[in-house]
Order: sequence, then C-alpha cells, then structure tokens
Amino acid sequence: MHLKSLVLKGFKSFADRSALSLEPGITAVVGPNGSGKSNISDAVLWVLGERNARHLRGQAMEDVIFSGSTARKPVSVAEVELVLDNSDGTLPIDYSEVSIMRRLYRSGESEYLVNGSVARRMDVLDILHDTGLGTGTHSIISQGSLDSILQSRPEDRRALIEEAAGILKHKQRKEKSARK
Ligand code: ATP
Ligand code: MG
Repeated sequence: MHLKSLVLKGFKSFADRSALSLEPGITAVVGPNGSGKSNISDAVLWVLGERNARHLRGQAMEDVIFSGSTARKPVSVAEVELVLDNSDGTLPIDYSEVSIMRRLYRSGESEYLVNGSVARRMDVLDILHDTGLGTGTHSIISQGSLDSILQSRPEDRRALIEEAAGILKHKQRKEKSARK
C-alpha cells in the first residue's frame, strides 16, 4: 500500500484545488518557511480522521478552512482527498484504489466519503485499523514531537517501538484474554 495522491481544496493555505501525485518510495516536500509544507501533512492527518484541532496546529476545527489572504476572500468549505494504492490488498476493502475524502463546511457540517460513497469516521478508522496508518499512530511525526520522543521515558519509547513493530495489538489481545 502507498499514498497515491492527495488533493487539497480550501484547506489551510491551499485555497485553490491542488493535487499532488505520489510515487512509491520517498517523497520530499521542500519550500521556504510558511509556504505550506506542514499544511500538507496536516491534510493527511485530517483526512484520516483527526479531530483534535491542536494536533492540526489550530484552535478550532474551523481553522483548517482557508481563511482568506490579501488577494483572496475566505472560502466556506475545506476538502481533502487521499487516494491509497491498495493493489497489494493491505486494506480490507475490495478495491485496488481507495479514496478517502473529508469535507468541512464553515457551518460546522462535515462528511466523509470512501470511494465516493458517504461514510462515517468510524468506517475510515476501520479501513485503516492495523495498517499503521491513521491518527494516534506514529506514521505522522510532526515538527516538535521529535523532541518529546527523544526526551520520553524508556517505557514510553518502548511503546513506540512496539507499535512500529506491530506487536502492540497482540499485547492488547493478550491482556484482554488474560482478563477473561
Ligand atoms: P516551516 O518551514 O516554517 O515549517 P511550512 O512550509 O511548514 O513552514 P506551514 O506551517 O505549512 O508552513 O504553513 C503556514 C502558512 O499557512 C501560514 O502562512 C499560515 O498563515 C497559512 N495558513 C494556515 N492556516 C490557514 C488558513 N486556515 N487559511 C489561510 N492560510 C492559512
Ligand atoms: Mg513546517
């Protein structure tokens, strides 16, 4: 599985529709300070279901909607679409390409679409479950959080390594069955 494309429209500094196509392997985004690099990783986090505005470097969720600039008026809806290549069947869904889209209107109304059909946030989380991708995992490490990882207690750092190795879920299952 790999990220195939990311389309932003009205999201943070991306007022106009901007499409990034991604290839397997490493992609680097370069640009001057304030040009929107971190906004791209915020977009990935957001479309995958992030609901804590602070994790998206804002105060309220509405802050992800383009708020206007000297040249442009604010817009009323933010939209991000992430297309995942699922030709290896990593995601438990019968499509070789999975599109996840999230929209938020200034009125507060919001929606998710999976391959064009209206879905719940839970559906998106279910699709990503056990893939290592998604909110709360460490597939996205934001600017600044690297410091807290380096300064974390050994136990916390161990949890991080366990998650990366994919053994956290087995540990949770083990604890669950031991309680029964
Ligand atoms: P650095 O190299 O300093 O990390 P960066 O390329 O990561 O910079 P970002 O943090 O992605 O930059 O982008 C910040 C810019 O995005 C700021 O100019 C900010 O005003 C703009 N921005 C953030 N949210 C919105 C919004 N809702 N509407 C319009 N512009 C926004
Ligand atoms: Mg940045």
